[in-house]
Amino acid sequence: MAENKRWFIKKINKFLENDESNKMSKVDGSFIFEPNVLVGIADGNDPIYNKYKEIIGKFYLTPSEAYEWYCEKENKEIRMKNLSIVAYILPINQKTKMENLNYSKTMPSERWAHTRLFGEQANMNILEYLINELKKYGINAFAPTLDKRLFKINRNIWASNWSHRHNCFAAGLGSFGLSDGFINARGKAMRCGSLIIDLKLPSDALNRPSDPYEYCINCGDCISRCPVNAISFHNRHDKMICAPHVTSTIPFINQTYGINIYACGLCQVGVSCSNGIPKK
Ligand code: SF4
Ligand code: SF4
Repeated sequence: MAENKRWFIKKINKFLENDESNKMSKVDGSFIFEPNVLVGIADGNDPIYNKYKEIIGKFYLTPSEAYEWYCEKENKEIRMKNLSIVAYILPINQKTKMENLNYSKTMPSERWAHTRLFGEQANMNILEYLINELKKYGINAFAPTLDKRLFKINRNIWASNWSHRHNCFAAGLGSFGLSDGFINARGKAMRCGSLIIDLKLPSDALNRPSDPYEYCINCGDCISRCPVNAISFHNRHDKMICAPHVTSTIPFINQTYGINIYACGLCQVGVSCSNGIPKK
């Protein structure tokens, strides 16, 4: 039964172990993400979601807003009382981290680029899989990132109306770092996901630090790893410098690895928070 987060941990780990979409099939067939996930739960009506609206912008969706949209579209009864957010961390394969560290000081390695493209597809598959598994118990679930009619990225400010990382923070899984990456017990080199479910689960909000940068030790490792100086102690992570570099990798990745994607992640490897929460 989907009564606690252990159920989600088991389901996601099993999926990662068995599903072909989690294999680096065009490289060496190894796992894209290690089947060693973290899962956290937040109350869908947690006041932090209104704070996100204030901090990120009015366009940012609270779980209630996203779920109401879904219910209206699907002609389902709108029930907001029991909403929970399930957030998870998918740790990137160690081999991939090592390769991205050693490959180049400016361009991503092959495995990293494959993780960005095919790993994100696996992540979408996980969301679909969980929704279908929950359906078997009569539990409604919705993942805003799966519906392109709702999910939007504002490329003027590089912010989306639904953020997995912010859900991970709400669910007590870690904190942000200087580079904007999400520091957690499996390390900043990860991808993450989140979905809304119509089932009250015990919230992990007590694990949430009061400081959103709690686990960043300000070591500055990520500053020196960035090829375009997008990270600094003074301004933290400047998306307006980062994003053009990340998108400029498309032709290189296309020509070198034969896939169409952008990637970088140089600030996520070879730094003190790559593999876990660094010691203060
Ligand atoms: S590398 Fe150091 S400064 Fe950068 S996010 Fe990690 S802990 Fe913070
Ligand atoms: S993703 Fe790349 S460009 Fe952006 S901050 Fe990290 S290292 Fe710099």
